[in-house]
Amino acid sequence: MKKRLTLKELTSGILAGNRVTLSKAITLVESVLPEDEEMAAALLEAILPHTGKALRIGITGVPGVGKSTFIEAFGNYLTSNDKKLAVLTIDPSSQLTHGSILGDKTRMESLSKNPNAYIRPSASGSTLGGVAHKTREAALLCEAAGFDIIIIETVGTGQSETAVKNMVDFFLLLMLAGAGDELQGIKKGIMEMADVLVITKADGENKKKAAMAVADYTHALHLFQPPASGWTAKVMTCSALENEGIAEVWNAIVQFETHTKLNGFFLQNRKEQNKTWLYECFNHLLQQEIKSSQALGELINALEKKVESGSMSAYQAAKDMLKNFKKI
Ligand code: GDP
Repeated sequence: MKKRLTLKELTSGILAGNRVTLSKAITLVESVLPEDEEMAAALLEAILPHTGKALRIGITGVPGVGKSTFIEAFGNYLTSNDKKLAVLTIDPSSQLTHGSILGDKTRMESLSKNPNAYIRPSASGSTLGGVAHKTREAALLCEAAGFDIIIIETVGTGQSETAVKNMVDFFLLLMLAGAGDELQGIKKGIMEMADVLVITKADGENKKKAAMAVADYTHALHLFQPPASGWTAKVMTCSALENEGIAEVWNAIVQFETHTKLNGFFLQNRKEQNKTWLYECFNHLLQQEIKSSQALGELINALEKKVESGSMSAYQAAKDMLKNFKKI
């Protein structure tokens, strides 16, 4: 049997930037076994003072838009500029169908061999909320391990973007030029979240279309309410295959960081996100508590049936649940 690392070994290994330890720690954080959850909580507590220095970037876009190719080019650019990069993914499809839209294993081959990059595929879990909170915690472990930039990647299907937006400083949306329907299934709400929108594959015959898409999307973004960050979203083009536009995207991110640190949004946003994390954890513990109480479980089942059949209002049933919850 493999020896379990102690809390002290995990903590010191992470702080020393040991990747094997980091991977084990992320597995621990992702575990749903109660004894692992206790240890994971203690580990997070121990490393928390060493977090917060990294820049957290969310990246999304529909399958095929070029996310993994972009992250490879972008990641290799960052590491060649002395940055250490961790890439984490949230793939809602892997929870729903046990398949993965992001097809983790074969992606980002060159970046995965880069000594200054660390790639960790999607956590599995029964709910998106659960996976999201594990990803947030995995990101903190990466920060404590000394990564300067954390990328959290997700698929632009609309399910996980809000979760990612809630844990990053900067949100990047990748889009295709002229891909038929005007927003190619990317919902308006997701576009509204973007701090920079990048039109991918701006090379060869696609270049002209990409330039037109910049104009179209710039216009579309102007119609949105100004965001709380006080930052005007930019639309840019890039070709990850030809390594064009990559440095420009990074420059825009640096500008965003400077802008939001100056106006106070950066810190305020992180405070809000920490609060979200608190309630995610609270919800998780609440669910666990409910599951572990048989009496409460039975009562909830009975109440669910009454609400389903319309013989009791949801509000009354919820009040009953709360009353009985207080008794345990
Ligand atoms: P993902 O599903 O969003 O991760 O997309 P991929 O990165 O796997 O890319 C999907 C397809 O688009 C692949 O065949 C890539 O080779 C291609 N692709 C990605 N980036 C570029 C680019 O900059 N230019 C061109 N011409 N093709 C690209």
